[in-house]
Amino acid sequence: MESYKVQQHLYDVIVVGAGGAGLRATFGLAEKGLKAACITKVFPTRSHTVAAQGGISAALGNMGEDDWRFHFYDTVKGSDWLGDQDAIEYMCKIAPAAVIELEHYGVPFSRTEEGKIYQRPFGGMTTHYGKGTAQRTCAAADRTGHAMLHTLYQQALAHDATFFIEYFAIDLIFDAEGACRGVLALDMNEGTLHFFRGHSVVIATGGYGRAYFSATSAHTCTGDGGGMVLRAGLALQDMEFVQFHPTGIYGAGCLITEGVRGEGGFLTNSAGERFMERYAPSAKDLASRDVVSRAMTIEIREGRGVGEHKDHIHLNLGHLSPEVINERLPGIAESARIFAGVDVTKEPIPVIPTAHYNMGGIPTNYHGEVVQKKGEDVDAVVPGLFAIGEAACVSVHGANRLGSNSLLDIVVFGRAAALRCAELIKPETQHKDLPANVLDKALERFDGLRHANGSKPTAQIRLEMQRIMQSDAAVFRTGVTLKEGCEKISAVRDSLKDVRVSDRSMVWNSDLIETLELANLLDQAVATMHSAEQRPESRGGHAREDFPERDDVNWMKHTLVWVDEAGKPRFDSRPVHMKPMTDEVEAVPPAKRVY
Ligand SMILES: Cc1cc2nc3c(=O)[nH]c(=O)nc-3n(C[C@H](O)[C@H](O)[C@H](O)COP(=O)(O)OP(=O)(O)OC[C@H]3O[C@@H](n4cnc5c(N)ncnc54)[C@H](O)[C@@H]3O)c2cc1C
Repeated sequence: MESYKVQQHLYDVIVVGAGGAGLRATFGLAEKGLKAACITKVFPTRSHTVAAQGGISAALGNMGEDDWRFHFYDTVKGSDWLGDQDAIEYMCKIAPAAVIELEHYGVPFSRTEEGKIYQRPFGGMTTHYGKGTAQRTCAAADRTGHAMLHTLYQQALAHDATFFIEYFAIDLIFDAEGACRGVLALDMNEGTLHFFRGHSVVIATGGYGRAYFSATSAHTCTGDGGGMVLRAGLALQDMEFVQFHPTGIYGAGCLITEGVRGEGGFLTNSAGERFMERYAPSAKDLASRDVVSRAMTIEIREGRGVGEHKDHIHLNLGHLSPEVINERLPGIAESARIFAGVDVTKEPIPVIPTAHYNMGGIPTNYHGEVVQKKGEDVDAVVPGLFAIGEAACVSVHGANRLGSNSLLDIVVFGRAAALRCAELIKPETQHKDLPANVLDKALERFDGLRHANGSKPTAQIRLEMQRIMQSDAAVFRTGVTLKEGCEKISAVRDSLKDVRVSDRSMVWNSDLIETLELANLLDQAVATMHSAEQRPESRGGHAREDFPERDDVNWMKHTLVWVDEAGKPRFDSRPVHMKPMTDEVEAVPPAKRVY
């Protein structure tokens, strides 16, 4: 192995990721007087959160009656009873304060006539425990994520947090007792290696949407945090639950927000029929995302798709007034024009269900602390390790996330992780000594990939993985295709041994970075496919044609999955927390999920 010079940095806490979750944690830590470093592979305001369009949920009740308990109920039901009800209570109760806090920080929310924050309806959001429709999603036009990310970055700068921008985190570093003590990272600009030491590390690296061929997420969404956690010998949770958004632009994958249907847009098949009325008689086009995606897939399969190949669906908004489109959905009109060549005032947008969100991830409690199963203790905290945002699985989304609950999740649990760190860490506590060889394993792996001299280019292996995930871990799954998918995805994971990195440089070497990312994606692709294969029931985003019903007797539990160095998965489970945190709200008992 080449010998590497590694520069060392000492901080109280290291945050990996500068999306909404990472930024909220970073300035929360700085606010509490902790010395925090935030390292990020892309410039903070280019993080994927910038793409979030529709909005952030909170029961403010600005557009009619609402209550956080209704939000709690909707989220439990939306999760198909796989969400932890203590974490869901924590999130929904704090949501109104979290949104007002964002408003005070400077997020330019759209306004009602009276000057209140504008709220739009979103799928699965109701009043009175399913009886009415809630307008709960607070929006800054159709650029809410953009507005939030810029505001949060400004707050982080105002609090003097330290940023290491365009640094790629390679691996987590643990001490001999199993506590996380830092991160090894590559400065992509200078080509130098850095060991960021902290009493805690907060992973906020986002989802792994790019394991799929067609995804609404950015090319940077490669699940690097989940990859690092698996390599550390820790489990991920509920990886079989992937959300397909009903309205990705056909052929391009870019998202058309659910807010379009919230503003009155609707879906039609080749007969011009508003088919959602058949599948979800009450909620119709605003049923939960998994329900709408499955309905669209059935329409296409049964020959009622639109277009030359009858392989997609139409989203209509031509009946909306130009004022609504210009004021509330300007970005959508632009995306439809650029990516589908459609003028939304005259023609429908061609759409298809597209991989959109990872409900699974790094298991945590509602303080953001990473938990694992150790002996009898199913929620043993991993000392020094936190995870937040889409990288984590708290689990507030369970088997299916409701739209606008993720922007809420990232600010609520970003803040919670900062508060917990402040309880546990005294500013400027002395760092414990670490063994001299503490970085050896991570450096060896990095060196191995950097000098990989096999026969397959990174892009080829990535494409094989993405195509397998797209066809075999899709909206509908069966035992036969999943079994085949497991064999195929494990073989592709194996082929990483034969990868070729053509450029050995450490400065702006996209081949090297994409290979490091691919290794992270592959382990999570294996975890997703194999987890789906071992769960013989349908729940939320996981729809098995061979097991169409939910099986609460045997499967009301979180999947835990480990992937070892050879790529072999191992499974266990963790009970769902069916009890809320306090008695301010009643537990929602399992029921059939109809909209
Ligand atoms: C198109 C689209 C629209 C959406 N709209 C909505 C919406 O309206 N409402 C809603 O609630 N949700 C929405 N979502 C979901 C939501 O946007 C995301 O779940 C959320 O923004 C994720 O935030 P995050 O902070 O966890 O991760 P991200 O914003 O993805 O940030 C990840 C950060 O980690 C860093 N990082 C990653 N790997 C490394 C590494 N190895 N080293 C260093 N840094 C690293 C990146 O640089 C980045 O800063 C949408 C999703 C999509 C795809």
